[in-house]
Amino acid sequence: MQINQNYDNLEQSYLFSTIARKVNEYSAAHPEADIIRLGIGDVTRPLVPAVIDALHAAVEDQSRQETFHGYGDEQGYGFLHEALVGYYKTHGVTLDTNEIFISDGAKSDLGNILDIFGADNTVLIPDPVYPVYVDTNVMAGRKVLFMDANESNGFLPLPDASVKADIIYLCSPNNPTGAAYDRAGLKAWVDYANANSAVILYDAAYECFIEDENLPRSIYEIEGAKTCAIEFCSFSKMAGFTGTRCGWTVVPQALMDGKLNKMWLRRQTTKFNGVAYIVQRAAEAVFSPEGMQEIQHNLDYYRRNAAVIASALDEAGVWYCGGKNSPYLWLKCPAGMGSWEFFDWLLDTAHVVGTPGEGFGPCGKGYFRLTAFGDADRTKEAAARILAALKTLQ
Ligand SMILES: *Cc1c(COP(=O)(O)O)cnc(C)c1O
Repeated sequence: MQINQNYDNLEQSYLFSTIARKVNEYSAAHPEADIIRLGIGDVTRPLVPAVIDALHAAVEDQSRQETFHGYGDEQGYGFLHEALVGYYKTHGVTLDTNEIFISDGAKSDLGNILDIFGADNTVLIPDPVYPVYVDTNVMAGRKVLFMDANESNGFLPLPDASVKADIIYLCSPNNPTGAAYDRAGLKAWVDYANANSAVILYDAAYECFIEDENLPRSIYEIEGAKTCAIEFCSFSKMAGFTGTRCGWTVVPQALMDGKLNKMWLRRQTTKFNGVAYIVQRAAEAVFSPEGMQEIQHNLDYYRRNAAVIASALDEAGVWYCGGKNSPYLWLKCPAGMGSWEFFDWLLDTAHVVGTPGEGFGPCGKGYFRLTAFGDADRTKEAAARILAALKTLQ
């Protein structure tokens, strides 16, 4: 027996365990400190009433002979495909139901999609990055190139014609930076991919946070994307499904004349047995008129949190991106502090916890992520403390 030696090449991630240890140590030494966490990347608002009603109704369906559902199609129920086709239509994208695959979330699909690509492909990943893209490729033994995201490109790297990549990861709006590509930026990537017979793996998990009408919410809003891009999306951030689990992947028929769509269908029907009927009914309810209105209410709640943090950073004169069209704010650590130095300083001075940028890659050194997924009152309190702390540096 031989193990997959590639696992030995994975970098250990100590980011969240180190944060937890540091916060615990600080709490033990300062039991009176009222610590506020702005580091979490998970939603906190409960599922909306339309979704809860759909869940209850689907449970009842499963209790009756006439409405019971056993195995469904691996790629999802028609009712959810239809709802998604309608959703894409609202931002001007026409899809066929057979181009949409329902899954238990974007993370699984982002990892599993690699099954349909050869081992010798060169992979291009932005730095800093959502760690899943890197680790799934390291596990498969693929060569990974990084592209620098930094202040000078607004944390939105554009293609470099001298770099030859086959598989390109883009996440917009981005986790961790909150930066979002405009149409021209995405068009540059689509043109590069089509010219190089490359594929773009486009993570749109935060598209629902986009408010600016000029920003694309799907890569298929860009001409030429259907011949080069696979889009991953999720109900997690959109509708609070992080613990309920549902997402989708779009593999256009125009991509390699339908070859990749067929391969992904084959992969899913072989290794996956579909998402729970109950959960797919809940996901369908997100797209009902009530569901859409109710999720907007929660998204607005997070948006207000982001605006509160952004206005504190504006007042303190700190450089940051995100905070608009995204639940993340990515700031430059003041006074030349490193990411961990700023983490310790902020914990000690303001009793606020965030995430050191260097945990997401070398280009994150000297940057720091704050999230808008917290409680509104606590976020206000945290923003006031951050502002007061930053003023002491001036
Ligand atoms: C949260 C998140 C997702 C969604 O993952 P799920 O598995 O659907 O919960 C996808 N991509 C990024 C970058 C994320 O931050």
